[in-house]
Amino acid sequence: MDSAVPSEPAPALTKTLKVALLGAGNVGAQVARILLQDADALAARTGARLELTGIAVRNIDAPRDVELPRALFTTDASALVRGADVVIELMGGIEPARTLILEAIEHGATVVTGNKALLAVDGPSLYEKADAAGVELSYEAAVAGAIPILRPITDSLSGDKITRVMGIVNGTTNFILDQMDTTGAQFADALAEATRLGYAEADPTADIEGHDAAAKGAILASLAFHTRFALEDVHCQGITAVTADDIAAAKEAGYVIKLLAIAEKLAVPGREGAAGVSVRVHPTLLPREHPLAAVHGAFNAVFIEAESAGELMFYGQGAGGTPTASAVLGDVVSAARRMVLGGPGRTETTTGVVPVLGIDAVQTRYYIGLDAADQPGVLSKIAALFAGHGVSIETMRQTVHREPGDGGPGTAELRIVTHRAAEASLAATVEAIKGLDVINSVTSVLRVEGV
Ligand code: NAP
Repeated sequence: MDSAVPSEPAPALTKTLKVALLGAGNVGAQVARILLQDADALAARTGARLELTGIAVRNIDAPRDVELPRALFTTDASALVRGADVVIELMGGIEPARTLILEAIEHGATVVTGNKALLAVDGPSLYEKADAAGVELSYEAAVAGAIPILRPITDSLSGDKITRVMGIVNGTTNFILDQMDTTGAQFADALAEATRLGYAEADPTADIEGHDAAAKGAILASLAFHTRFALEDVHCQGITAVTADDIAAAKEAGYVIKLLAIAEKLAVPGREGAAGVSVRVHPTLLPREHPLAAVHGAFNAVFIEAESAGELMFYGQGAGGTPTASAVLGDVVSAARRMVLGGPGRTETTTGVVPVLGIDAVQTRYYIGLDAADQPGVLSKIAALFAGHGVSIETMRQTVHREPGDGGPGTAELRIVTHRAAEASLAATVEAIKGLDVINSVTSVLRVEGV
């Protein structure tokens, strides 16, 4: 039976915008499919026909997920860019993506990209060049895949003051940590499973070391706090040191461990009344009832706190060809509308007055795991060291392990959660604890948020 709902009518349009697509991989092929399949609907929404003039790839004969007209393919990306009104860059990597984006800007073309790696290393200079040329450079797909998060920050929340952004912005690490939490798997086994299912790349370094999340954290912080943050402004710690024991201990205490990108407004140490922003990526203990704790598998979510709006959460698929294509096309349609109707291109504002703070300015609660000798007086020695460094203990739990039939002293596993403490005080405490003769090892030091 035919649908009773009429499809969007093909409008009579006088304007055509030439769209060049660079890349036809996971995302690019889906973008091409939608541009061709939904041409009438996209024209109705933009007021212009979006004509896909060509698709630049490395190898025209490579197999594709989507069947696309062969005549559209070219290996001459530069020629394609020169004739375009809109350039969609989905090749990834630094070069030739950067040169092609610069060529597009020079020619006055609107640029849409999902290339977080390039934005991480070169974003500020690309935004400046686009600004100077008066062209739009948008990149919704670069952070959290399908989730509309950059536009809500730059548009919907532009009348508010954001105080904190906490995001699960890397699906691979969320999958691994979730797998460890639900099955008790060790990190290496959970990573192997992520690779088998296609969530982790052959070289997973950028994901598991936190670099990908840091790149996204820098973008989120720049937009939320109107100040340009570069990758080197982000304190970054990945998940490779998180063990099954950490996860089990966190679970027992009512927490889940997530890799979070956190950007927050903080007081500037030593400057009364002054505020700055710190951006950091690290494994974090979250109470299991926190909304971000319910983000499972490879899903992403961004939790925002704003002065007037309060708490908001954006949740969805952080990767995948078709979901990411949705974000790319959102940028293309918005840009095309403005090209048809006029009006200002970019809505990002960078007042650039907020000081960028290092990790030293951050105060969080900490979870510390210790392997100690089970002897009288151990707890009081440890408690005295914490007190001596000005770090206050909230809870301390002890589990004693003894070999069966062994009458010896055994070992004590200690799990300590502190009140808020400065990074430097905590680091000094941990160093001092390592020097105690009753301590076998410090098994973990993790930050706690969302309490
Ligand atoms: P991909 O599958 O590796 O596809 C890359 C495409 O670019 C291929 O079609 C490739 O051509 C083409 N290409 C690469 N280098 C080229 C060069 N030097 N000259 C011409 N063409 C070149 O990548 P993807 O997964 O679609 O990702 C594209 C971008 O979106 C990346 O920046 C990525 O970070 C971003 N992104 C991806 C996702 C996701 O879920 N995949 C999510 C968010 C953001 P051949 O086909 O001939 O090899």
